[in-house]
Amino acid sequence: VGTDRQVVDRMRQQLPPHILDLFDDVGRLADGEGVQVYVVGGFVRDLLLGVNNLDIDLVVEGDGICFATELARFLKGTLRTHEKFGTAVIRWGDQKIDVATARREFYQYPAALPQVEASDLRQDLYRRDFTINALAIRLNRERFGELVDFFQGVKDLEQGLVRVLYNLSFVEDPTRILRAIRFEQRYGFTIEPQTMGFAREAIARQMIRELSYERMVDELILILSEENPAPALRRLTELGLWEYLLPGLVWTPWVEVEVSAVPSMLKALAEAGLPVPQRPWVVYFYILARHLSMEGVCFVNDHYPLKQVMRDDLFKLHKEGKDTNQALMNWLRGDDPLSRLESILRDWSEEAILALRAGFSLPDTVRLFEAWRRIRETRPCLTGNDLKALKIPPGPIYARILNRLRRERLDGRLTDAGAERDFVRRLLQEEAPASETKGGNHV
Ligand code: ATP
Repeated sequence: VGTDRQVVDRMRQQLPPHILDLFDDVGRLADGEGVQVYVVGGFVRDLLLGVNNLDIDLVVEGDGICFATELARFLKGTLRTHEKFGTAVIRWGDQKIDVATARREFYQYPAALPQVEASDLRQDLYRRDFTINALAIRLNRERFGELVDFFQGVKDLEQGLVRVLYNLSFVEDPTRILRAIRFEQRYGFTIEPQTMGFAREAIARQMIRELSYERMVDELILILSEENPAPALRRLTELGLWEYLLPGLVWTPWVEVEVSAVPSMLKALAEAGLPVPQRPWVVYFYILARHLSMEGVCFVNDHYPLKQVMRDDLFKLHKEGKDTNQALMNWLRGDDPLSRLESILRDWSEEAILALRAGFSLPDTVRLFEAWRRIRETRPCLTGNDLKALKIPPGPIYARILNRLRRERLDGRLTDAGAERDFVRRLLQEEAPASETKGGNHV
């Protein structure tokens, strides 16, 4: 991939025409503004690896915000600027373009957020995490497609090595340890031995404790969002990182079996035409959290910036997970009606159920989710208006009647509006004496 000619050829082969045109425009605008502009980072890495990636990060040697403003105007895109960091984001249709002023970062103390000052491309690339992410391609017209490789990133890409740019890299930003593991596993690379040594050193110095949980969780989520996170999670175990990430988690063969089962579970659901969770990382996270003690769950609850629904799920999985899984097995083996399944699943999220099912029979899981979809799609024929027409005084009783009708319908005992009406009348007659004595209707 080394020569500039080959880079241009690759761009022509791999990139969609609108991106090639965009780069052409960027180059022309850059010449007009008298600045040097480069596409950098993951985009270049993936281009050279032949992997699809249209996340465009531009670095400008010059005033990045001024250039971004011109580019946004030219593209008729929207612009958001962050003056303090010299960065901007352009939205152009579905495409996001990040624009940054070439900058140098320095850290006031280890694991702090970096301070930033303007500088040239080399220094900008030097502050990055790994050599494979510190490559740039020049977009100015005269030298369009020139590959800029100050730190032998191409060689590391060819040899499959994840290598930091300087010894203190992990001390300055320990999230890079998680990033190293993520890239290593995603591309089947190896963390270069000296880099591994630096990582171990930073871990031994407990640098990760200086980090806010938010930043660590963000990186953990990125790992859990990879197609098959199991190997990366095993690597976290080897490095002793669970102690910080999820204290008390023991990576047993069974945890690994469960985590490794998720991709095929999601695939099976998709193949059956069933909805697949929007955020598969949640399923992995729940699997891991299920193997924590109550103390560990409380730790997560106190330290992780999670939404309330996820917190609820975590406690529920811990307290009721085993019983619910048993109830699901019983339903699968027995011939209980759908309404029974509904009462088991009613308060559970899809992700939590998948976390419970990981490692169990795939066809059974598909059957469960098919049944669940049927449950969710089932509505009674009658509506609130129909109940009004039956002269039932509006109140909470409506929800109870409609729910009851839904259950009857789920189990195939009611199939049309007429039967539902008869059923409601009977129900009210049966309930009437009780409501007179108990002061409420117990439909
Ligand atoms: P992905 O394919 O997962 O999106 P990416 O390399 O594009 O990977 P981003 O998180 O989008 O990753 O970051 C863009 C670029 O910013 C990286 O390629 C890297 O050069 C730089 N970068 C990101 N995070 C860090 C960090 N913690 N330290 C140093 N450089 C970083």
